[in-house]
Amino acid sequence: MNKILAVNAGSSSLKYQVFDADTFNVLASGIIERIGKEDAIATIKADGVKEKKVLEILDHKAAVAIALADILEFSSVKNLDEIKGVGHRVVHGGEDFEDSVVVSEDAIAKVDALSSLAPLHNPANLTGYYAFKEVLKEARHTFVFDTAFHQTMEPKAFLYALPYEYYEDYQVRKYGMHGTSHKYIAKRTAELLNKDIEDVNTIVCHLGNGASLAAIKGGKVIDTSMGFTPLAGVMMGTRTGDVDPAVFPYLLEKTGLSVDDQMRIYNHESGMLGISGLSNDAREIEDATNAGQERAVLTSDMYAYKIANYIGTYFIHLGHVDAIVFTAGIGENDAGVRARVIDNVSEALKIKFNHKLNSEVRGIEVELSEADSEVKVFIIPTDEELMIAQDTKRLLGL
Ligand code: AMP
Repeated sequence: MNKILAVNAGSSSLKYQVFDADTFNVLASGIIERIGKEDAIATIKADGVKEKKVLEILDHKAAVAIALADILEFSSVKNLDEIKGVGHRVVHGGEDFEDSVVVSEDAIAKVDALSSLAPLHNPANLTGYYAFKEVLKEARHTFVFDTAFHQTMEPKAFLYALPYEYYEDYQVRKYGMHGTSHKYIAKRTAELLNKDIEDVNTIVCHLGNGASLAAIKGGKVIDTSMGFTPLAGVMMGTRTGDVDPAVFPYLLEKTGLSVDDQMRIYNHESGMLGISGLSNDAREIEDATNAGQERAVLTSDMYAYKIANYIGTYFIHLGHVDAIVFTAGIGENDAGVRARVIDNVSEALKIKFNHKLNSEVRGIEVELSEADSEVKVFIIPTDEELMIAQDTKRLLGL
């Protein structure tokens, strides 16, 4: 039986899932963390068993060897030849990729060239590809891009109002991220509504440590909240989201904070952490909000308000909205965030929200709106690995 491996390689981590290519049942899922360290951690779940070990894993090649050995030992895959397709998540596909692709020399060169737009991610994604390619020589490989699903945006949505030559010469524009997740949710929402995707308008709220919203009209993204980089859009765990760029030189003048210092602050010390002074973890913010702590309450209010801003804008551009969907770590698990976001928009969008049900559920696929709500509200747990595996099957004809 054919198997498909979905791979997400970061600079110091490697996540993978093995799928049955016919049923898309997950046969194994694993993560290797702290690659490059003597105390790296390799975890695999397969056949109802969870195996975790701490060992020296100095590079991606070693990580791949451990991952494949674990797959053979703990899952029903007994021969690596069964793995016919390997789908690799690639963060930045720029304007070169509107869809996933079968890996070729040309695709590799383009992904490499796009590293200047995603210096932390694309090189790591390629390192993961090379490491698997060396061992799984007979399998065919695909690249699945985080940006590709957003390539349907029109110039009026994706351009910044800078002089046009910065777009032409340096590709400065909005790209958006989390595309694989948004695509999965759009597809799944149409299935839950029992409609063709062409007939469904959805606002997806992918709220994890990084967060982005997308307005999806008939299966195509018309706008999304992340921008040239994942810093833009809504407030996040530690990222600012949208800020007037004039703050940058102002702080430079007032505080002497360098470009690097400010980028660290905007990326790692802002968002929920920066406002609350407490934590970037939504669970801690929620607890402190419920305890009435002032800055936590402000953080929670701001977080919902910024998301509501995007929902309102997207509602206008979509004309009508069939569903608002919450997904990713916070969207799936944080009832307080969901309730506050919907409270901000329910009057305008004529949403009837089941607060009681919302407070009782997390991490499951469920409708949170009442039967007579004009816009439906769902939690749909995201599944980027499944999307990678499905694209890989489609492209390779497995
Ligand atoms: P992600 O980036 O999608 O993995 O989401 C990670 C974030 O989800 C964490 O930083 C938490 O803030 C949030 N999260 C995870 N579990 C919960 C939970 N049970 N309640 C509230 N937030 C959660």
